[in-house]
Amino acid sequence: MHDLHLHSLFSSDSYPSATIENMCNSAIQKGLEGICFTDHIDIDYPTDEGILNFNDYSSAIDEMILKYNNRIDIYKGIELGLQPHIFEENSAFSAKPGIDFIIGSIHVVNKKELYKGDFLQGKSDEDGVLSYLDELKKCISSFSNFDSLGHIDVVRRYLANGEKAFDYNKYSEALENILRTIIYMGKGIEINTSGKRYGLSSFHPLEKILYLYKRLGGEIITLGSDAHSPEDLGYCFKEALDLLSSIGFKYYCIFKKRKPSFIRIE
Ligand SMILES: [Zn+2]
Ligand SMILES: [Zn+2]
Repeated sequence: MHDLHLHSLFSSDSYPSATIENMCNSAIQKGLEGICFTDHIDIDYPTDEGILNFNDYSSAIDEMILKYNNRIDIYKGIELGLQPHIFEENSAFSAKPGIDFIIGSIHVVNKKELYKGDFLQGKSDEDGVLSYLDELKKCISSFSNFDSLGHIDVVRRYLANGEKAFDYNKYSEALENILRTIIYMGKGIEINTSGKRYGLSSFHPLEKILYLYKRLGGEIITLGSDAHSPEDLGYCFKEALDLLSSIGFKYYCIFKKRKPSFIRIE
């Protein structure tokens, strides 16, 4: 199994134990075949978290690739925060050499953070979800330099009335529109197991959204724990693969030099 979404100390929200080397050792101990570091690049983040130094990040990963090359496959990725007004900056970052994989994720809507609840403040849950999906649509309509769309329904985690307030039927049209665009662009989505770790009843995205993606002809799915500490690597992967398999997916994807390879789900 390959974990294609994880953070090290190069991300400011990681646990102190998440050194790049600890993450590699934990992945080996857990028997993962490969990992891709996807530390945050959130340009113009409202709280100005700062952007990692890509050269330092890149060399730290290269060092691990050399050190552990016969024990685990290690890839270099980023999780790029998408916002409609920073396409140019994001395009410039994505063009940096040596990147294997880019996750495109929404962490900020209308310049307000999802994580600290600023964005949803003063909105009904329904309005919040609709503007989140609208922002997502805007982002992927004008920016394509990513490989897999991260935690598509992450907004579910922050609703004032809990995840049950996310009524799939209300958003299925917007979701279908987004997924059709992703498929047309030749991009993928991820199954992000952190939903359960954060106390939701399911992964990101909801099963229904995975079924919809399958029905629309989606084939590219990456697998990510979104670990910010060594113990969370590969979280619930067996369950995630069983779920994909039950929906009819036969493969998950890994990326090297921005090209997908399909790995059969056993
Ligand atoms: Zn994220
Ligand atoms: Zn992440």
